[in-house]
Amino acid sequence: MLTSKINTLNQLANQKTIVEMLAQVAEQFGGKAIFTTSFGYEDQVITHLIFSNNLPIKVVTLDTGRLFKETYKVYSQTLDTYKKEIVAYFPKHDAVEKMLTEKGPNSFYASADNRKECCNIRKVEPLNRALQGVECWITGIRAEQSPNRQGMTFFELDEQRNIIKFNPLLHWTFDEVKQFVKDNHVPYNVLHDKNFVSIGCEPCTRAIQPGEDFRAGRWWWETDSKKECGLHNHAK
Ligand code: SF4
Repeated sequence: MLTSKINTLNQLANQKTIVEMLAQVAEQFGGKAIFTTSFGYEDQVITHLIFSNNLPIKVVTLDTGRLFKETYKVYSQTLDTYKKEIVAYFPKHDAVEKMLTEKGPNSFYASADNRKECCNIRKVEPLNRALQGVECWITGIRAEQSPNRQGMTFFELDEQRNIIKFNPLLHWTFDEVKQFVKDNHVPYNVLHDKNFVSIGCEPCTRAIQPGEDFRAGRWWWETDSKKECGLHNHAK
């Protein structure tokens, strides 16, 4: 059932503009479509399209408690610019307290298991709460960002959560995203000007060097991981 819905939506997405598709999703899923933003370039494009077109799509952010001060700045600027609500989800305090007490504040550097534990507490659990009752989850994923994102389609099934994911910027290049932000005076994270491409938590994100992969700045000390934090599970 979800598969045939996804096929139909993918056919439509090949014929319509991005704003038309966002409007289609808003209409088709009513209050059960949400967009999650972490205020990176791609997310700011989608936020701009949703807010400036007054689309009835709930915009949500996950505040992990470990974000860059520059991210909080663009978060505030986005609220000031669009005067629209962004619903915040925060990690459960008892889980964070237990992890900090047992392992200290930087346990993620010690092992991949510790890193996944932190991502689960600070990102995945809040995301799963945000996604409760949701039928369509809109994301800023682009195919160019990582090798395991290249076989994706506009609409796909999140098998683990059994919901539809919509990736409207899937085929945009980084330069197209950057140009859109510039042309439309969209507030953006100034870390992008310092070679930060994919921006997550402060202790787990660094700038990339020329020629490095887009995701090289995330969890750079892990050499064999897929550089995903458990938010996005792609169907093969
Ligand atoms: Fe924790 Fe780093 Fe994951 Fe953020 S990115 S939740 S600090 S391990």
